[in-house]
Amino acid sequence: MSAFFQNAGSNPCDPFGESEIQCHVNEHAQMAVNVSSVDEVHASLDFAREHNVRIIIKNTHEYMGKSAPARGTLSLWTHHLSSSEVIPNYQSQNHNGSALRLGAGTMGSDAVRVAHENGLRIVAGFCPSVGIAWGYTQGGGQGPLSSSYGMAADQVLEWEVVTADGLHIIASPTQHTKLCWALSGGGRGCFCICHICHRPGISRRRTRGRRQYAWQEELPALLDCGATAGYAILNDPITIEGIQTAAEMETLLAPLKSRLDDLHIRYTLQVSSEVNFYNHYRKYQGPLPWGAYPVGQLFGGRLIPRVELDERRHSLLATVRRITEETRAFLGFIALNINQTQKGITPVQPVADNAVLPAWRYAALTVLAQSVWNYSAPRADGLSRAEGMTQVVGPALKRHAGVGPAVGSYMNEADFQLEDWQVEFYGAHWDILRGVKYRWDPEGSFWAPLGVDSEKWKLEKEGRLCKVG
Ligand SMILES: Cc1cc2nc3c(=O)[nH]c(=O)nc-3n(C[C@H](O)[C@H](O)[C@H](O)COP(=O)(O)OP(=O)(O)OC[C@H]3O[C@@H](n4cnc5c(N)ncnc54)[C@H](O)[C@@H]3O)c2cc1C
Repeated sequence: MSAFFQNAGSNPCDPFGESEIQCHVNEHAQMAVNVSSVDEVHASLDFAREHNVRIIIKNTHEYMGKSAPARGTLSLWTHHLSSSEVIPNYQSQNHNGSALRLGAGTMGSDAVRVAHENGLRIVAGFCPSVGIAWGYTQGGGQGPLSSSYGMAADQVLEWEVVTADGLHIIASPTQHTKLCWALSGGGRGCFCICHICHRPGISRRRTRGRRQYAWQEELPALLDCGATAGYAILNDPITIEGIQTAAEMETLLAPLKSRLDDLHIRYTLQVSSEVNFYNHYRKYQGPLPWGAYPVGQLFGGRLIPRVELDERRHSLLATVRRITEETRAFLGFIALNINQTQKGITPVQPVADNAVLPAWRYAALTVLAQSVWNYSAPRADGLSRAEGMTQVVGPALKRHAGVGPAVGSYMNEADFQLEDWQVEFYGAHWDILRGVKYRWDPEGSFWAPLGVDSEKWKLEKEGRLCKVG
């Protein structure tokens, strides 16, 4: 959980602080269940209903306080509902062939490994320890294979769920269709809880660079060839993945190399090729199963449409420079091509229409603005960094927002203080999602901050969760 939420409340307590400082549970949940079976889910739901408490689900880790439980809520920890099973001959109207059935607690690294052992690939996050089956996929889910297969939510065949009134059902494109639509990209922790069936894909490379201008100029061409690229405005390497062979990658990078040479910019370029995606994932996202991504930092960000990269990239870079000069945030980027519009390939279509934020289909970049939490500084330091994210970074990036359906921010990697989060995270789907929430959880048994209908409840002083009005 982000440091901001670990330490929130009237008596902030740093878990890494001096041992003599007394910590209290305070605002955090005082009731939690380490869920290990569907029966325990049923029993927890009964308890919550009987005692009129909200349920907050926690799986792995996240940045926005969505799994940070409030006092008086019942926290369900699903991490140990971990299982990955290959179904060799899954049959449905939308897919006939292999499928992966993943338990609610399964981490991306386990799913990638099991897929690999069966000659398959799956859209998991860059961070191997992100839980793949729920928060990640419900929020959309981007990763190294996004330019090859789209979003993780696009690959969902069905969801096995326990609903607020205790029904144990399958939601798929042919049964309980609206629920399936909403779960696939429409937000987290709000409709019901459990397992997922995923359509896998049937079964690459790294570079170093420095000057962002040259890089941004060449980026559109790389996206058009199906690359997914991760980079940061730091001294970090740029990584580009998703191109089939080392020779192809060398060809693609030739214009960038000659541009850097012309500018007399020094760089180191490494092109490597692995025999399969799992080896690549293990090499660059490992050590598996956890990976090396930090969890504590503050987050912000926004989806930047392709048109900004094509037509206004210099102004975009000026914004990036301004942010890094005026705040203590640094910027990471994932460049991707969800629609797989590269020439000569047939895009892998989503299994069915879903609630993934439409802005993803227009995006060339998801900006991951981050500010490192300093555990040795007073909490005021963290609060001022969070303010910088909301007051400076967000508005500056907004200048590069798209229009209409291209507007949006990734609900899993964004600023938790965003004011117009309903539009930013859910876009035109908001009203339909509210209808699904009303149909499947009218009493609001499941609650997640920034989730659909979460604004009907308010966290009061001392962390009490009270109904508004
Ligand atoms: C270090 C780090 C790296 C990340 N890297 C990536 C990345 O590469 N790509 C990417 O797309 N995202 C990434 N994320 C964001 C990630 O997608 C979210 O944190 C996501 O919420 C994790 O999913 P989870 O299942 O572990 O849910 P949690 O984070 O535990 O919970 C998040 C929300 O999901 C809900 N939820 C969880 N399980 C269930 C369930 N069984 N039923 C109903 N609701 C449930 C919770 O109620 C909560 O609202 C990263 C996050 C971190 C912290």
